[in-house]
Formats: sequence, C-alpha cells, structure tokens
Amino acid sequence: MKHLYLLLSILILSCSSEHSTQETDTKSKLESKTKLEDNNIIIRSKVTSGASLSSILRKYNVEHSQILLISEQKEIEFNFNNLQLDKKYEIILDQDSLICSFVYYNKPNDYYGVEFSNPISFFSNQKIIDLKQEDTLITMKEDNITSDLKNFLMGKFDPKSHPEFDVLDKKYHNKSVMYLHKLTIAAFLKMREAAEKDGISLTIVSGTRNFYAQKSIWERKYKKYKEEGLTDKEVIQKIMLWSSMPSTSRHHWGTDIDINGFDKYFDGTNKKANKEYEWLTKNATKFGFCQVYSEKKTGGRSTGYNEEKWHWSYMPIANQLLEDYRKLITYSDITGFSASNFAEELNIIEEFVFGIKCD
Ligand SMILES: [Zn+2]
Repeated sequence: MKHLYLLLSILILSCSSEHSTQETDTKSKLESKTKLEDNNIIIRSKVTSGASLSSILRKYNVEHSQILLISEQKEIEFNFNNLQLDKKYEIILDQDSLICSFVYYNKPNDYYGVEFSNPISFFSNQKIIDLKQEDTLITMKEDNITSDLKNFLMGKFDPKSHPEFDVLDKKYHNKSVMYLHKLTIAAFLKMREAAEKDGISLTIVSGTRNFYAQKSIWERKYKKYKEEGLTDKEVIQKIMLWSSMPSTSRHHWGTDIDINGFDKYFDGTNKKANKEYEWLTKNATKFGFCQVYSEKKTGGRSTGYNEEKWHWSYMPIANQLLEDYRKLITYSDITGFSASNFAEELNIIEEFVFGIKCD
C-alpha cells in the first residue's frame, strides 16, 4: 500500500513579499489554525494516484491563478498537474498561502522548480534552500507529519475538505450525504457493478464518521445508559457492543462501509440478506474488501466487536492506517468525550482497534 501514496511535503516558509506575484484577500486558515514557529511550518499530505496539484492545494487556500501559472509552465519538460507516485514535491508558500516556489524532485539530485519572483523564473538542479534552513525544516517536518497523521487516524478532520475524500453519489447510499476515501469509492463501485450482474444490489448505509460524528453518537448513548444507573465501565461495555469509542473507529478513515443493513437485517432470517451476505463473502475480497468483524471463535478472532456481517473494510488503505495507528496512537491520545479515561483499563485499543480478522 505504501507505494500507492507518495509523501508530499508542503513547506510553508515566511517568504519575502517580492516572491509573491499577487495580493490576496483570503486570509490563510492555516495561519489561525496552526501555530507558526519561527514562521516555518511543514504539512504533509498523502497524494493518491492521479491527484492533481489543484486538488491538493485547494485546502490551503492557494489561488487558482497561481496553480494555473505552474501547471501551464512551458520551460520545464514535465507536467506539474501530473504528480507522480514515489516522487517528492515541495511547495513553498507564504503565510497567505501564496506560492513562492514549487520544486519537483525527479531524482534525489535532480530537481526542477518554479520561483514566483517577479518575473517568474524556472530553474533546475539549483540549491534553493540553504543548508541551515533545511536542517530546521527536516526536524520540524517529522513533528508535523506525525500530528497531521495522528489527527487523521483519530477522525479529527473534515471529510468535506479532505483532498483524498469525495462525496458519494446519492444513488449508492441511503444517507443525506456521504463521504468516503476516493479509492474506497472506486473499489466499491466496481464491486457493486459485479454484484448487480449477479442480481445482488449493494447500498452503503454508513460511510465516514469522523471523531465529532462518533462523539455525538457516544454522548447520546452515554447519557441514556447513565440515566439507567449503569457505572461508567458498564456504559462503555454496553455502547461498545455496537458502537465505537471516538478516536478508535475504522469509520473515521473513509475505508470502512456498512452495506445494506445492520444486526436486525443480517440476523439470518432474511433470505434476501442471506443471499447478499453469501455473495459478499464469496466476492468482496476480489475488490479489496474484508469483513473485519468476523465470527468470534476459538482459534480465530477472540476480542473486539461482535460479528458484523454488514461492515466491510477496504484493506489496501486500511491496513496501512492500522499500522500507522499501532505506531502513533496511545491511550493518552484518547480524550475529549465522556468516560474516555477508562479506555486504557478496558484495553480498548488492543481489543477493539486490533481485534479484527483480516490483515
Ligand atoms: Zn460499521
């Protein structure tokens, strides 16, 4: 999966004003959201195959005219709009998110760039950042990469503005609006088409739920069960029969979907549901999907949620994210909702995040 992504480092420097080609009224969201330390900030975005420069830069409020300037450049023989996997790009912005320069590393010692000085200049194989500055940047890069990814893993982002997410056409789901990872959508549509040929119809009944959506489910159930007189630990155990703790749900990632119904629909008595489930167990893996919450049994999956015949995970992406989760998330990160302090005592990460069947 790693090679389906490339690392895009966006370096935000305090560029001197003569590098900016135009003024903007749009104040960068980043400036208010992110703490500027020594005016240098580095943000990482994951870029999926086929992503365009504009789709990546949109969330940083980069002016469309600036993107056009780079993508329509004539002097250098490559297409900036055609970002390539496993290649490194650096985009240097000022604090108003105007591009100061764009550098494309073809090979480690071979790079091309555009500098937005006046007039715009193109260059290659030149050193554009002095070594001292670069050293600082590399150190900071690690920190920012980590916090960006950690927030994503715990669902602390808005799928509406995430460049790797897309809205799913209404005809494929039953919610008012649904967002998923673009690659999950592509894989699901292929699977759905194949199912249709076999007379099976697949509809997504739940897609991405970020931390805040999961928190609202959590708090509603927490309040209800507390009113019934349960202790915090009992409440958590009861909620977690069917719902995730915020920060620990695979639904945060845009890789996991619930198909056609939930526990009552797939209770074994519904012939239509049985046929659909049979089709999925036979075919879903061909499209990258796996039933992560399989039957619990000795010698198999023994911890975590009960069996969920409706919950399918797009493994090519989810596997990598689970690995990242293993490396980066600890119990000190699981906060911000009722009874979150019991997560460690109840082994939530080990049992519920890692308690899955597929790998
Ligand atoms: Zn689910």
